[in-house]
Amino acid sequence: MRDKLVVGNWKMNGGLKQNDALLGTLRAEWDAPAGRQLAVCVPHPYLWQAQAALSGSAIAWGAQNLSERDAGAFTGEVSAAMVAEFGCRYAIVGHSERRTLFGETDAMVASKAAAAIRASLTPIVCVGETLAERDAGSTERVVARQLDAVIETLGTKLPAIVLAYEPVWAIGTGRTASPQQAQEVHRLLRSRLAAADATAADVLLLYGGSVKGDNAAALFRCPDIDGGLIGGASLKADEFLAIARA
Ligand code: PEP
Repeated sequence: MRDKLVVGNWKMNGGLKQNDALLGTLRAEWDAPAGRQLAVCVPHPYLWQAQAALSGSAIAWGAQNLSERDAGAFTGEVSAAMVAEFGCRYAIVGHSERRTLFGETDAMVASKAAAAIRASLTPIVCVGETLAERDAGSTERVVARQLDAVIETLGTKLPAIVLAYEPVWAIGTGRTASPQQAQEVHRLLRSRLAAADATAADVLLLYGGSVKGDNAAALFRCPDIDGGLIGGASLKADEFLAIARA
């Protein structure tokens, strides 16, 4: 039986004071039921704060991005090893905002996943199609292409990832994929993982895209959905905890 995992993606939001309140509430109220894991992925400058607030709790933390390079003259970049020094367990790679706004290619995303694993982090690899791609009937082709780059680059390390299916048209739009739509893609992703490496069949598959307290349970009940990657709703402790308990 796979655990359920709910991960908050704060995106470029936060501030020292509000982070303290949010992290403090999560720590105080998360009762860590068996088989359920909770994590928050915060902007790099707040990694120390997440570490200070959550160390010794059942809540993990991580980054939202990292460099595919290990060190050197790459001004403005943050390496996986630096992120790992702050006690992170996770690093999101290939979020659609990074792919579309910052030009990250499938190959770069795969290299970032590899860099995370080299630093003993678990990469949360995001894949997902745009609305135009879905309307053109290309969902399967797009997510398979995005996943195949990761499969090819990681080789035997593939089971070390968490995979998140985030349809771009559902992110921050209030438009959630139906449980059936999400399950269909998750089934495809799981069978592709299993075909690449039998031991990757149990990789955790998260759904992301306008998940809220009132739609999480129906999504998380689907056989191949192991939890969620939560954007906007992860900034409100009550809503985020409701999703984690769903
Ligand atoms: C995300 O940023 O990964 C996300 C799923 O955002 P939202 O929940 O706000 O749609």
